[in-house]
Amino acid sequence: MHSTNFSTLNLKPALFENLASLGYHEMTPIQAQTLPLVVSGKDVIGQGKTGSGKTAAFALGLLQRLDVKRFRIQSLVLCPTRELAEQVAKDIRTLARGIHNIKVLTLCGGTPMGPQIGSLEHGAHIIVGTPGRLEDHLFRGRLKLDDVNTLVLDEADRMLDMGFQAALDNIMEQCPVERQTLLFSATFPDKIQKIADSFMKQPALVKVASVH
Ligand code: ADP
Ligand code: MG
Repeated sequence: MHSTNFSTLNLKPALFENLASLGYHEMTPIQAQTLPLVVSGKDVIGQGKTGSGKTAAFALGLLQRLDVKRFRIQSLVLCPTRELAEQVAKDIRTLARGIHNIKVLTLCGGTPMGPQIGSLEHGAHIIVGTPGRLEDHLFRGRLKLDDVNTLVLDEADRMLDMGFQAALDNIMEQCPVERQTLLFSATFPDKIQKIADSFMKQPALVKVASVH
């Protein structure tokens, strides 16, 4: 059995405080099965339905790893849509409260380029965005991923359904080989197995059927 209490994890005090103030006492099943692996630095594929608590499963991992004193892009989170990226960025900011000066930047399509370029020039610790726009910034040399230590593919099945395979491949190729890759998905089609084979290091596959 997996322990379901967050206190069993090795997390920064600020993260425990934020979990408590959010009223998160017990880990959800997918969190209980992925977080010990995530926090230990392993590559993980987490398969679970909407509402199973996947965001905290990767957000706590990347925040635990983050060195806020290094003002570099250390985490990159890929999401299928702008709405989801904004929600994930909001959730990360909430979990990061009290960690001084942490900068989370969203980079999504459907929003003007100018302000994004300005924000990129100012820098960030964590970027959350959609594959097409991120690929665009990457190709134009505005986005450097050399310091990424945690790469997250959230709702990977939806990103593939939306035709983002090539953009995902290009982005993953630009990330350092020495990194942790976390992939979350509601389903596990063959294309995800291919991503796992090409871009992940012996990922643990965690499949959770129920939400609670
Ligand atoms: P998913 O990405 O799997 O669809 P989310 O990460 O968006 O799910 O989480 C679904 C809901 O559950 C959110 O409202 C979130 O705040 C809440 N939640 C996540 N983890 C916990 C927890 N350990 N305890 C209580 N609520 C939680
Ligand atoms: Mg989600």
